[in-house]
Amino acid sequence: MWPIIYIVLLTIFTDGLCEEQFCSASNDDAKLCEGSKNVDVDHQRSSLYRKETNERYKKYLVAIENAEQAYKECNNTRQKNECFKDVIARDLKPFKEKGISEELMEATRTRGTFYQVIKGKLYREKDCMFPTRCAGIEHFLLKIIGNLSDMDLIINTRDYPQSSEYFGNAMPVFSFSKTPQYYDIMYPAWAFWEGGPAISLYPRGLGRWDQHRKSLNKASLKVLWEQKESKGFFRGSRTSSERDSLILLSRNKPHLVDAQYTKNQAWKSNEDTLHAAPASEVSLESHCTYKYLFNYRGVAASFRHKHLFLCRSLVFHVGDEWMEFYYYAMKPWIHYIPVPKNADLKELEDLIGFARNNDDLSKRIAHRGRDFIWNNLGMLDISYFWKQLLTSYSKLLTYKPVLKKDLVNIKKEQ
Ligand code: UDP
Repeated sequence: MWPIIYIVLLTIFTDGLCEEQFCSASNDDAKLCEGSKNVDVDHQRSSLYRKETNERYKKYLVAIENAEQAYKECNNTRQKNECFKDVIARDLKPFKEKGISEELMEATRTRGTFYQVIKGKLYREKDCMFPTRCAGIEHFLLKIIGNLSDMDLIINTRDYPQSSEYFGNAMPVFSFSKTPQYYDIMYPAWAFWEGGPAISLYPRGLGRWDQHRKSLNKASLKVLWEQKESKGFFRGSRTSSERDSLILLSRNKPHLVDAQYTKNQAWKSNEDTLHAAPASEVSLESHCTYKYLFNYRGVAASFRHKHLFLCRSLVFHVGDEWMEFYYYAMKPWIHYIPVPKNADLKELEDLIGFARNNDDLSKRIAHRGRDFIWNNLGMLDISYFWKQLLTSYSKLLTYKPVLKKDLVNIKKEQ
């Protein structure tokens, strides 16, 4: 009798040691404690482990619970149009009271490219600073032109927004991305069609969201959640130093994260890739083999954001300042894991640890994020957003636009 009790006690004791030594708070990998022979002890140990990890990650679990309780899915059917109408109302609010006068329009002209919609035709000033960006915008404007009333428009094709709260009154300029400190009116980026960043993988510039939707969906179905590597992943250039912490974590803990800097056109030496040789570029489709995909701002919002979700991987979205029009409809802890922009290595490690230790929750958030982008950000949704935006905007003009001289008529692509 005694030897059996002794063996059981010894098993519990050594398992306890394993808990202490290998499954402590600094180690997320429960598998290191594999090899137990006793089911009860295994169960006891796993519930102990679960209790410990639940305690450790309580603040994230509570955040998810609260977010899920408050969340109501938006209905983006044409009848309801719930998902993006708030952002239109918010961006146009500064012009609601006084409207947009011809003088204000004239004062805003230097901030972007001047367009006119007159009698169902689209006109633009001759020169556009970035021709492919203008083409990416015009693709959508021409789709809806028949539904638009006459209007003047100033569309900024630079990365950076133009009408800061800190410098004067609101200017009616359209920009693809901004922080809440800008008055700019957000429009769907040119890169939904063309004019996105040119990297060696996409020498003609990242674009054709319609094609990426299909190819990413296919890639996401090839590697199911359970088959994905439980690692964080990031590839991109150092357009913002906010990305450094993840790169450094990857260098320290490559089993947790694979994050490396690639070259961009401004690259001169290894200093621009944080003192390491630049990594090869990785296609967006190949990102789908990883469970946790990081999105960072670049100069403004980064175009990678929407693509990552279609991998059916869990998106870690860093920072909450830089927005594109559809970001407002997506909710932290519901569609993605929010990461503070100044998160240090410890906080990043903790968040990845949380995701690894709460796989069902991670999968649930990943799939909700994917479904949001898939269901609400198709090409027709983009055209429809443009239509809603410009219809509301045109009602704010306090004058009747008249066709100006020296503009070129922009026609549909053949
Ligand atoms: N990109 C990519 N694979 C890479 C590097 C970049 O697909 O290996 C894409 C990335 O998703 C982004 C664009 O290229 O949409 C530009 O990335 P970068 O990090 O250079 O600049 P960002 O626009 O994010 O500031």
